[in-house]
Formats: sequence, structure tokens, C-alpha cells
Amino acid sequence: MAREADESARTTLMRKAHKIRLNPTLEQEQWLLQASGTARFTYNWGLAEWQRQYEAGEKPSAYVLKKQFNAIRREQFPWSMEISKCAVDTGFRNLDTAFSNFFRRCKNGDTKKGYPRFKSKRHSKKSFRMDGSRVKIDGHWLKLEKLDEPINMAEMLRFDGGVKSVTISEDAGHWYVAVNVEVEPPEHKHPQESVGVDLGIKALAVLSNGREFENQKLLRLELRKLKRLNRELSRRQEGSGRWNCTKAKLARFHRRIANRRLDCQHKMTTDIASTYQIIGVEDLNVAGMLRNHRLALSIADAGFGEIQRQLSYKSAWYGGVVVEIDRFFPSSKLCHFCGCINGNLTLAEREWTCECGAVLNRDLNAALNIERQALNILRRSGFTEQVKNGRGEGVRPFGAILVEASKMDEERRPSIPAVV
Ligand SMILES: [Zn+2]
Repeated sequence: MAREADESARTTLMRKAHKIRLNPTLEQEQWLLQASGTARFTYNWGLAEWQRQYEAGEKPSAYVLKKQFNAIRREQFPWSMEISKCAVDTGFRNLDTAFSNFFRRCKNGDTKKGYPRFKSKRHSKKSFRMDGSRVKIDGHWLKLEKLDEPINMAEMLRFDGGVKSVTISEDAGHWYVAVNVEVEPPEHKHPQESVGVDLGIKALAVLSNGREFENQKLLRLELRKLKRLNRELSRRQEGSGRWNCTKAKLARFHRRIANRRLDCQHKMTTDIASTYQIIGVEDLNVAGMLRNHRLALSIADAGFGEIQRQLSYKSAWYGGVVVEIDRFFPSSKLCHFCGCINGNLTLAEREWTCECGAVLNRDLNAALNIERQALNILRRSGFTEQVKNGRGEGVRPFGAILVEASKMDEERRPSIPAVV
């Protein structure tokens, strides 16, 4: 059994994406706008048709709608023939996703169901997707089906491998291509075995071995400029030339902040995922924390959800494991040395003294507890041996395993973890 798993793991390819800025000519940009417009048009056409069919007692599906659209495409929408059929497909694909999400939320009984809405020309994001078979990438050049001249790319593609698809989109006045490539994961040996990661507000993260990643709080630093631009925008008359100018300035500013934050997070998550094989991290309820307004700005700033996402896919890439610890696990309140729980610990207390006499740094203590709990979960589930053996034989044992502590420890929670 284990052998079979190893055999299949050896051939596992992984998806990687590289987003590259495009330098289209004016004509090419016109075509990109048309293609995005086509995707938006078919989405709206499909949504209107869906509603009509539903009211007529039929059971609509995006797949059938696409076939119906293609049957009348040449005759009724001849302009769309100049654009790749992938742009048409994008609309129906998005429609399918929108309804799947809507049905899922209905099933879960969510308060916000989010019935799919029509996409407006002005406010919707301009983007479309193309299959890998319909594009060619050669050095700095991206050739798209039905577009005569190749588009210049600011960078060359970082990965070697088969292009599965590309997504082309516009953001704050620039066009980008995100190239999805299937690549073989690298042979990698982690220098360290395990680590606990405490994501925080004061520091971006504190590791169980005492390493700290600084939180740059980018948004706060530049809050003043943001406020000035927002004030400037509110003074302008909506829709006027000056208003548009300030709005573009604001969009560029937001994008720069987002890019810098992302860069900071990427550096940290690559470091952690490539250094430590077993990574314990808290499954924080980000949505719930954002509702606490006092914490909201700092948390949105640090981007916990994005950090967790990056850790899990990068860990899979390097052949490691991310273990998510239940959000109700008392990581900060638990003394790492004696197992006492300090029920009175407040958010403001950075350091506390336990009954056993230990002086504990809040974040470091939490990181140590998270690491131990992660190892406990892995040991109980029998994964530890596999993790240790897998890489030793030069074989990728599996990708990241997300162990949900709440499902595994239902009856033990919130017990004190045994000392490993
Ligand atoms: Zn203690």
C-alpha cells in the first residue's frame, strides 16, 4: 500500500502560476478589452437566459447554455467571431462558478446567499481565460489565438513545463497574464524537522525556536497619504476628468501597498516552508476576527488568511506538511512547561508568570504549544513516521495534509496536550 502511494507520488505534477505584466500595443489593448467584454457579455447573456429558463420551470445549466449560445453565435453575435472562443467559454465558466457558490451557500444556510448578479461594464474586473493549447509563449512574447501579433511580456516565464492555461486581466491601468504551468516538484531536504508558527499582530509571526518576522504595518505607515487622496477624491466632481485622475492615483496607490505586503508575506512563507518539514499553525477564524473592529485594521494589514494559504501550498511544493490547530486550542493561555491554563490572560499582556514559576513570553509560548500540538496530532494519526521516512528515500510522500484538529480531537478538546 505504502509502496503504491510512493509510486504514484513520484509522478505527481504540481501547478504553479506566474503573473507577468504585459506591454500591449494600442491595437492589442483594444483586442484585450474586446475579449474581456466578450467574457462579460456571455456571462450576462447566460445569467439572463438562466433566469428565463428557471422561471419557465426548466433546470438550466451553464454547460447547456454555452451550447445554446454557440449554436446562435455566428448568426446573432458575429462580432464575437473575431475573439477566441476561450473568451466566450470564460463567461459560462464564471457563471457556473457563481451558481455553484450560490448553491453551496444556500445548502450551508449562510445568511448572505449572494445570488449571481449582472456584471456592469464600468465596475466589473476585466479578465478572460485561455486554454494552454491556444497560446504560445516564446521568450518575452505571448501569442494568443486569433490575435495576429504576439504581445510583449515584461518578464520571461519562470517555470519550465506545460502551460495549462493563462488568465489575462487588467488592474489599475495595466494588463497582466497569469500563466498556469504544470511542473515537477523539486527534490528538497528540509534543514529542520518541525516548527510552531504563532501569527500575530505585534510581530507578523513568532516561531517556536524564537525567530521573529517583523510586521511592517504598511497600511498604517501610509494611512496619511491614503486619507489625503481620499479627501481629494471627495472634493472632485464624480465622473469629471480630475475625479478620474485622482481615482486612478488611488488605485495605483492601493496596488502598491498590496504588492509590498504580498512580497513581505511571500518571503516569510517561502522561508518557513523550505526550512521546516512539519509546520503547526493556528486555524484562525479570520472572518470572525475582522468583525472585531479594534483588531480589524491590523489583521487585514497582516493578511492571516493569505499567509495560511501560502504556507499550505508552498509546504506541499517542498514535500512538507502543514498541520492546522483548532482555533479553540488555548495556545496563549496554556503554560508550555507545566500545562496550567491561565484563564485571566488578556490580549494586552505580553508576558506572564505561571503558577509553576515560569516567566512566559506570550507569542513564543503560543508558538511552542502550537508546535507540540501539531506533533501530537501527527503522531496520533500515524503521519509522523511517513513524513520522516518519505523524504529519506528521496520520494515525495504526499502534499500538504491539512489536519483539522476539531474533527480529530472532538472528545479531547480542549484538553492539555501530553508532553511529547
Ligand atoms: Zn506553568
